[in-house]
Amino acid sequence: MQYHAFVIKYAEIGVKGKNRYVFEEALVKQIRRVLSKCDGKFNVTRVAGRMYIDAQDFDFNETVDSLKTVFGITGICPAVSIARDSENHLPDVDGVAKAVIDFIDGVYPDKHKTFKVKVRRVDKSYPMDSMAMAAELGARILDAYDEMTVDVHDPEILINVELREKLNIYSEVIPGPGGMPIGTAGKAMLLLSGGIDSPVAGYMVAKRGVEIEAVYFNAPPYTSEKAKQKVVDLAGVIAKYTGKVKLHVINFTDIQMYIYEKCPHEELTIIMRRYMMRIANMLANESGSMGLITGESIGQVASQTMQSLICTGEVVTDIPVYRPLIAFDKQDIVDISYKIDAYETSILPYEDCCTIFVAKHPVTKPRADIIRRHEELLNEKIDELVKVALETDEVIEVKR
Ligand code: ATP
Ligand code: MG
Repeated sequence: MQYHAFVIKYAEIGVKGKNRYVFEEALVKQIRRVLSKCDGKFNVTRVAGRMYIDAQDFDFNETVDSLKTVFGITGICPAVSIARDSENHLPDVDGVAKAVIDFIDGVYPDKHKTFKVKVRRVDKSYPMDSMAMAAELGARILDAYDEMTVDVHDPEILINVELREKLNIYSEVIPGPGGMPIGTAGKAMLLLSGGIDSPVAGYMVAKRGVEIEAVYFNAPPYTSEKAKQKVVDLAGVIAKYTGKVKLHVINFTDIQMYIYEKCPHEELTIIMRRYMMRIANMLANESGSMGLITGESIGQVASQTMQSLICTGEVVTDIPVYRPLIAFDKQDIVDISYKIDAYETSILPYEDCCTIFVAKHPVTKPRADIIRRHEELLNEKIDELVKVALETDEVIEVKR
């Protein structure tokens, strides 16, 4: 079957009232962005609350895979699309019937199928209404293909015939990712480690249309170049959806060593986390990010008990901390990680800065007042170390 068009379905953004235009423009822009990376010639148009892609010389799978990364799309419908003639007429009923019959032949070599025809007729110049037209087309299909039968309740094939500015015929609806188009919200700063959770957390917030900037705390020479590359690759997984991720790599070694030297070891992880949050907060304020994102989930590890979350959260006071996985079971997170192709990278066994200095018995119910008191042991020197860490920030532009 030579499809040469796609009808793009989008749900949530269709109901946004006055903002609808903004959302649709953003969606078109994102569709154009991903298609610019695909082989072929594409023309994306937006007409009367519908989006169409005309495609030539393109690779079907590559194109569909790319469209599956565009937030805001709920359905990708490979279509046959027939333009109006020189007098601005759509095909007449015979012409439509022929196009539908050819469409079925091209898409369904095996005709032992039940079907239903659904007509949407925006062009009112036809002699029949939509219902009559659907019945007529159904009859013509039955004439053409003996093996096919009608089932109006639960058909195997639902043939959509749209008589709009063009004649569009499609039957398959390939699910899109849903969500909102990138560029319709704002920006947030993701604390991106090499684990399973934080890339999923970033993906989930990005899906709401949020641009993602990220920060990774590494601890050379205790953590390797490979561990860092893994994080760059995970930023790439998110960039596949957002177009780009600006990744800050912060050298955390001296801060970590200093905390290790001065503070009780069982509080090390919590205090380190607080400094990660503080530094991420500073980077967020500098970059205009309107929140932090972490992969935390209640009770998953000692540093994510509710008490620990108070301690890590309290150091960020001027912007929200988004924790999209807060109530997720690990398996649910793993499922999404698989789906977005992050899992294989996330499970690569490279050391993490947090595992290196980890205490045998970390506090599971830290008290914020005690933590604050122990942090005082760090005196002004810690501010100097934070300053140096920010000054030596390595910025990597990760693009799709
Ligand atoms: P993940 O799978 O995301 O690493 P985790 O289950 O290992 O999460 P923790 O190690 O407790 O959990 O980290 C909690 C959160 O803190 C992470 O989801 C991430 O957002 C942030 N984080 C942890 N380590 C780092 C790091 N080295 N760089 C940046 N962010 C980090
Ligand atoms: Mg981790």
